[in-house]
Order: sequence, then C-alpha cells, then structure tokens
Amino acid sequence: MGFLEKIFQDLSGQGLPSACIICERYQFNTICKNCLDTFATNALINYECCYRCGIALQADEVAEQKCSSCIANPPYFDASYCLDRYEGVLQNALHQLKYQKRLAYAHGLTTAWNHVIADQLKAIDASFLFPVPLSTQKLIARGFNQSWEIARKIYCGSHLLKTPFVLKRHHHELPQAGEKFLARRLAIQGMFYLDPRFIELLRGKSVVIFDDVMTTGATLNEIARLLKDNGASQVINWVLLRTTRAPYV
Ligand SMILES: [Zn+2]
Ligand SMILES: [Zn+2]
Repeated sequence: MGFLEKIFQDLSGQGLPSACIICERYQFNTICKNCLDTFATNALINYECCYRCGIALQADEVAEQKCSSCIANPPYFDASYCLDRYEGVLQNALHQLKYQKRLAYAHGLTTAWNHVIADQLKAIDASFLFPVPLSTQKLIARGFNQSWEIARKIYCGSHLLKTPFVLKRHHHELPQAGEKFLARRLAIQGMFYLDPRFIELLRGKSVVIFDDVMTTGATLNEIARLLKDNGASQVINWVLLRTTRAPYV
C-alpha cells in the first residue's frame, strides 16, 4: 500500500463511516466484524469440495475428494479454491462492483478473501497470478476488470507475481452463463491468448488464475489448456464465488 493511500485509509477509517458490504449497516470497515466472523464460519471453503473444480461434494464423492464430472472429464486445471457460493452473502457486493461500478466494494471483497482464505493459500508453490481478462472493448465499457480489482490486493506470498498484462482475451460474444456446458466450451475455444513477449517465462511454471465467478468451468478450462499448451506445468484457480452444481450435460 502506498504511503498516501495508507494515510487516507487511516483517516477515513477513523472519520468516515462506510457501509458493510454484507449487512449494509454504517460503521468503520468495509465489512463489519460480525459479518466477517459469520462469513468466516459459513463460507464454502470450509466445506468438503472437489479439489479439482471447487464444487461442493455430494456424500458419495467425499472419499475421492473429486466430483463425478471431474472423474468423467478431467479438466486441464489442477486445483480450484473457491471462497464462497455464488448464491451466498457476497453476491450483492460483487454485483455492486461489476454492474454499478462501485469500486469501493472491491475493498470489502478483498477483505473477506484475506480474512478467510489467504492464509491457507500462501504456501502454494506458484510463480504467477493472472486475473481472467476482459476484452479491450469490455474493459473500456466497464472501466476496470473486477477480477483484477479484487486480486491485486489479496495477500499472497511474495514469490507470486501478479500481473494483468500476460493473459488476454479476444472480443467475441459468448452464450450466456445459463447455456449448456458444451455450447459454452465450443464458443470459448480460441477466446484467450498470451502476450508473446512473456510466453517463454511460463515454461515449467505454476500459474494461479483468479476469477470472480466460476460457473461451468469452461472459461477456466480453456485458459488452463492455453497455459499448458504453452509450457505451464500446473494451473490453479482461485475463485471468489462458485455456482452450485453446474449443468454438465
Ligand atoms: Zn455487516
Ligand atoms: Zn470437480
């Protein structure tokens, strides 16, 4: 954090009330202590999840720690860590950030991440963190990439270089999230590319991909395929919100 930013945060923390991103009561933090404590106990990451795709496991899947979809069709990525469910208490804050462009919500979402999940991810052996990119057109329309706004301030080991400049996205219209997995997977092929200046750096390296929402996993699967085709040894997803069981049909 920069010197001026720290002074501003200290001053505003003492003088200016802000609304908690969960209960929306005014107090002095972007998430109040009550909400943070309750969230820390109930977040998806505390539950038995598929280590590959992060979905909550059904009882008969717990022994293998993998969901039936990942057993039938192993994805290109190696592991996924998802903070909470899409239907959970952070959904409104993410929508405020993404669709109402209320950037202050990114601070609250980062706080939730750092409080609940950052410690257990610190030891992960990876060299780079890339946010899932927006196309240039979408970036201009929205003004910021919500995944990067959250990811850039999460705590992680200093060995992990975060950058939004390596992984890029072409501008194509995609079927909406409710579309079937296969339709999305076909539409998404070739959607992403790497800045050629950095490809050599990826060889043999582990890469973390940060996404705000994971639904079918088709986007993250395509990114992992691209990274592995270009020499990355391992791809790990860090995801803010995970939808419940995806329509794998
Ligand atoms: Zn609260
Ligand atoms: Zn799975």
